[in-house]
Parts: sequence; structure tokens; C-alpha cells
Amino acid sequence: MNFDDIVALDKADVLASKRDEFDLPANTIYLDGNSLGALPKSVKSRVAQVVSEQWGSHLIRSWNDHQWIDLPTQVGEKIAPIIGAEKGQVICCDSISINLFKLLSSALILNTGRSKVLSTQDNFPTDLYMVQGLSDLLGTDLCQLKLVEEQYIEQHLTDDIAVLLLTQVNFRTGKLLNMQKLTELAHKKGILVIWDLAHSAGALPVELDKCNVDFAVGCGYKYLNGGPGSPAFLYVAKRHQSAVKQPLSGWMGHAKPFAFDAQYECAASINQYLCGTPSVIAMSALDAALDVWESVKISDVRAKSIALADVFIALVHSHASLADLRLSSTEDSIQRGSQLAFSHNHAFAICQALIEKGVIADFRAPNILRFGFTPLYTSFEDVWNAVNTLVDVVTTKLYAEPRFNLAGKVT
Ligand SMILES: *Cc1c(COP(=O)(O)O)cnc(C)c1O
Repeated sequence: MNFDDIVALDKADVLASKRDEFDLPANTIYLDGNSLGALPKSVKSRVAQVVSEQWGSHLIRSWNDHQWIDLPTQVGEKIAPIIGAEKGQVICCDSISINLFKLLSSALILNTGRSKVLSTQDNFPTDLYMVQGLSDLLGTDLCQLKLVEEQYIEQHLTDDIAVLLLTQVNFRTGKLLNMQKLTELAHKKGILVIWDLAHSAGALPVELDKCNVDFAVGCGYKYLNGGPGSPAFLYVAKRHQSAVKQPLSGWMGHAKPFAFDAQYECAASINQYLCGTPSVIAMSALDAALDVWESVKISDVRAKSIALADVFIALVHSHASLADLRLSSTEDSIQRGSQLAFSHNHAFAICQALIEKGVIADFRAPNILRFGFTPLYTSFEDVWNAVNTLVDVVTTKLYAEPRFNLAGKVT
């Protein structure tokens, strides 16, 4: 593969024009949109408008006049088609961690008589921590965490399990689980399923309704580009909505929040999953960021994501100097999300040196160098330049310099 091939790939890219909708810093190759999505230009003007016009001039009237009160549902409905959900099942609120607390509680109540929550050993830690916290609160008679290796999930789907809690794309390796098959197998044993879509929503086609999923959560600040600390979202299948309950019964989830009744009565809709007042500025940013998806076909996003990663792998393999980088992701693109993980003894320092040279990747303990591909704004030329910089950092041993070996608070 040579540079002409790269140019040809960018020329043929149907998503190429989307890059102009993002405000990307000069001289930077951003391969970390799987951790924090880049800034859509539309977000800048929207946030400025919300702050100065809506908040500044219209003050409290904006809850009605600028529909602040509808933001959680409005944003939820914009996310719904991206994850294969019909109307009335997705709402934007809180963080993934808090939403997991609500959904785990709901699922355990629905599946009374069973207490085990099955998850994977290397799931994203917050998912496991939330189960542990709930277990401490309720006691192990009502909630206990059971962990298995990712490849043994199927064998452990037994009829004493209440809830299967899985992240569709492994945050370290990028391994993509089969949502349809695992959901179906779990249902056969009476197990309810919660999928974490943190690394799937906006990265690949997700079909929650088609797969008959019970519950899901996902992230606003990764592939959906809502900005740092952007609110998350949750999904509850329509068929469960009249039966479910969740314990964070704040006033926004009340059937009539503005009746100020002393007695809690949950909303009949997905709105019962709201808790307190939405973060209007942050939710407005996500709302504007989601407009970028208008007219985008997720199948195009997936095809380009696979192509970008395949080119990256091919280029890494073509450089003998990168032989010490071991691909921890599968080579089989069908079983991969939109990121690649390589292990290396000096992964942390290599990552720091890359960042200094303008290639932003990230490091995940203990020894993983992670590259994320965001097809709306990553080009094939970015991939070409990133691999060349990597070659440079490794062959010159730039990473060995002491300044690249100091860890910051966030890695
Ligand atoms: C990023 C991520 C989270 C983040 O959770 P928050 O509570 O929103 O901070 C959760 N789960 C997975 C799998 C993630 O990748």
C-alpha cells in the first residue's frame, strides 16, 4: 500500500464532507474519538445561544419557550434511530453509571426470585462497580455479581441468572459481541439483558428492537460527540415499560412533576427513568451534536470504520520496526468495534510521545495502546500519517525520554 492508494481511498469516501462539520485543531491527528468525540461546529453556536439568549435573556421562561423541559425526550428520540429503536423507548439523562443503577434495579425487580447478575471479567469497571454497590445495598440474597471470561458467557447462561450485563464492544480490545445471539440465548433461560453501548452507539449498526433487547445504556461524549461529561442515554423496551420500576424516584420521573404532590407516582412512559433536573447546557450541546447524523447511513460509518482499521493494521504490519507492537484486537473486522488495541511494554511512553507529535491516541492499563477510528472525521490520510509518526517514535526510541514516562491524573 502506498500513498496514492490512501489518496484514492479518501477520494472515494462518501463521508468525507462530514469532516467539515467538525472543529478539529490544526496539526493534530485525533484517534481518540472513542474516549471523547471531537467538537461539532454546530455545538459552539448552540451553546452560545443557550447561554446568552435563552438563559441570559429569557431566564426561567425558557423551560417552556425554548422547550428545555423536553430535551431529555427530544435528545432520546434523536439517538433512537442510531441504535435501532422505535419511538418512546430512549431517554437522555444522567451518566451511564447512574443509568445502570436504575436499569439493574428494574431488571432485578422484574426477575424476582433470581439474584445473579452475570457479566464479564474485563467489562468496563464502572459497570461492575455499580453491581457491587447494589449488592452491598440489597444484600447478596437479592443481588450478586458473577464474572466470567468473555469467551465463556454462553456456558454460564443458566436459569439461576437474573440479568446478563454486557458491553457490546470491549473497551480495551475492541472485541464485538454478538448481540442477537447472546440476547436470544439469555431469553431462553429467562434472563433479562442489559447492553452497554458506550463503544457502539455511533460506531456501528445497533438493532436493539430487532434483537429483542430488554435494556440498554450508552454514552453521549464518545462517538456521539456531545462533549466532556455529556449526558448518557438509556433504553427500555416498550413491552417492559408498564411493569418496570426504578428506585431513583426523583420528581422529573413523576407522572405530574408540577403537581408537587407529596406522593410519588411514576410516569407511565420512559420518562419514569428521569430523576432530577436535566443539565440544560450539556443536553443542548448533545442535541446540536446529533444533527451531524442527519442523512448519515450507519452502514457507511461501519464500512469506513472497518476500512480505516484494516489500513492501519496493514501499514503497521508493513513496517518491520513495529514488530514489537502486538495486536490485541482480532484481525477479523466483523468481530471488532471501531478501535484497535496494541500491546507493548512501553505503551504508556509511546502514547505520550505520539501525543507530543500531534497524534492523539490513548493508553489503557496495563500495556495497551489504543487507536479509535471515528469515520465522520477520520481520514485515510490521518491513518497513514499516524502510522508514520508511530514508526518515527519507535525507531528513534523517542519514547524512552523521561518526560514521556510521567503519568497524569487521567490516562
Ligand atoms: C465510557 C464508558 C462508561 C462511562 O460511564 P459514565 O458513568 O457515563 O462515566 C461506561 N461503560 C463503558 C463500557 C464505557 O466505555
